[in-house]
Amino acid sequence: MAEKVIMPKQGLQMTEGTILTWLVKEGETCEEGKPLFEMETDKLTITMDAPASGTLLKIVRGEGEVVPITELIAVIGAPGEDISAILAEAGGSAPAAAPAAEAAPAPASAPAGYDYDVVVIGAGPGGYVAAIRCGQLGLKTAVVEASACGGTCLNRGCIPTKALLHPSEIYETMAKEAAGVGVHADNLSVDYSEVYAFKEKVVKRMSGGVEKLLKGRKVTIIKGKATLTGAHSMDVDGKAYTADKIILATGAEPARIPIPGIDGEGVLNSNGVLSCDKLPDKVVIIGGGVIGIEFATLYNSFGREVVVIEALPRIMNTMDEDASAAMADILKGKGVELHVSAPVKEIKDGPVVVYEENGKMCEAAGDMVIVAIGRRPVTKDIGLEAAGVKVSDRGFVEVNDSLQTSVPNIYAIGDITGKVQLAHVASAQGVVAAENAAGGNKTINYDIVPSVIYSNPEVAAVGLTEAEAKAKGLKVNTGFFSTAGNGRSVILNSTNGFVKLVTEAVTGEILGATILAPHASDMIAEIAVAMKAEATVEEIAETIHPHPSVSEIIMEAAHDVEKRCVHKM
Ligand code: NAD
Repeated sequence: MAEKVIMPKQGLQMTEGTILTWLVKEGETCEEGKPLFEMETDKLTITMDAPASGTLLKIVRGEGEVVPITELIAVIGAPGEDISAILAEAGGSAPAAAPAAEAAPAPASAPAGYDYDVVVIGAGPGGYVAAIRCGQLGLKTAVVEASACGGTCLNRGCIPTKALLHPSEIYETMAKEAAGVGVHADNLSVDYSEVYAFKEKVVKRMSGGVEKLLKGRKVTIIKGKATLTGAHSMDVDGKAYTADKIILATGAEPARIPIPGIDGEGVLNSNGVLSCDKLPDKVVIIGGGVIGIEFATLYNSFGREVVVIEALPRIMNTMDEDASAAMADILKGKGVELHVSAPVKEIKDGPVVVYEENGKMCEAAGDMVIVAIGRRPVTKDIGLEAAGVKVSDRGFVEVNDSLQTSVPNIYAIGDITGKVQLAHVASAQGVVAAENAAGGNKTINYDIVPSVIYSNPEVAAVGLTEAEAKAKGLKVNTGFFSTAGNGRSVILNSTNGFVKLVTEAVTGEILGATILAPHASDMIAEIAVAMKAEATVEEIAETIHPHPSVSEIIMEAAHDVEKRCVHKM
């Protein structure tokens, strides 16, 4: 009886595999359990054994072919056996010739008539990465930037915020913990102008590094503001440029709420806060999202009064509910005043924030009000209409999975695409867009994107929360481990955090995780890699973790999923 050989499923997320080499030729004998062919998935190269002994009667799919899982690739049987029914069922006989494997992106030659193969508009973490990748691929590339290289992330976002948070953490540790561990310092004080200068130094160094990397890849940096004038053309401060492909990476800017007083004195958005070299005594923050909680952490750590006013019923509303609740307790314990379900209505002179809570109008005065209510895409005045690029109802540039806009030679990446507003997502999109501009056929998937809030302790998450997994109808197990049971966290005086693992109940696949703990931003990468490699919770549970380290909480939570946690009653 003939035996079908099918493309095997080698992992939870595998949908197709590429046949690399047939180790047995048609008409030759193969032996059950002995190597038959080599194949490749997007994760591994593997030798597959023959499922039965006999003659390899037919190779249905040739070397280099990409075959969906479970599809017929060969037939083993007795010499002369009639296998026409099997072949007919599989859609006819083998294709005459196997198509070549997907071509690697090859540098396109500069089409005649264009100044550049690719012009990238915007040199943020999306744009500069895209430009460097284009340079690596041999494309004649330029990047247009109106301000400093590095965009929001390096100049007005991630890097400067963390450069301010670092000194604030030192201050908080010295003020609150040092004496308790025998370290005494008299007259602790903060000179915020020096803190600010440190932040500026870090920003300058990082931005300068980006320029060097661009130049090292022979990318031309054009200083100025680009406006598209057509599908292949743009104006940069009065000078015209043309390109075969264009990558839009113009980013986002702080959103505004249309309420009275929003432009008043002392009312700042994140750009304003990061360019203010004074430390306020009392801060009122509108918005308990990522930016709001990071600034609350900054000023609270420096010992300042902080009030956070959030319209939704909980802070950090995109994170796991347990993490939101724990962070609310941590912040309140440190003296931060939190108001939730409290939409802001107005900002009076002072500045004084007027918000509604429990049906009553309330007021909070500060010497600085920070508006952190989200970011909107920068799509106005960049010539999208002239080029024919479509924008969604929400104002984001529409892209397909290859990051092409409605105009096929124009790609868009980063915050203007409205996918996930994070620097590392923009960079990942930048690589995909660059490779596609060079003739590749890459797509992007947003299922495994770690995100971090740089509070103290940090909160990090990847994949699905427990609630999201359940809402998708998945059968879920969870594992929980508190930092109170972790030696390294006890030493670091951070015992109010935890890790929560969410796994699929039947297969043990890791669906997501939330970590509230010191170094959560670094540790979440372990889970992201495990998810990408399709590791199961058993594999995390059986991986020896260093001791003493905070990372042990991940292993303990994996044990907890299996109800065999050693350090938990
Ligand atoms: P956000 O969406 O995270 O939070 C904004 C919050 O403001 C929401 O909780 C919302 O309910 C609240 N809000 C809106 N209108 C309000 C009103 N009238 N009164 C009271 N509350 C109101 O936005 P963000 O914190 O401004 O951050 C913007 C983007 O930048 C996010 O996508 C974020 O991921 C990204 N970012 C990331 C990092 C990081 O990775 N660490 C840091 C900063 C910013």
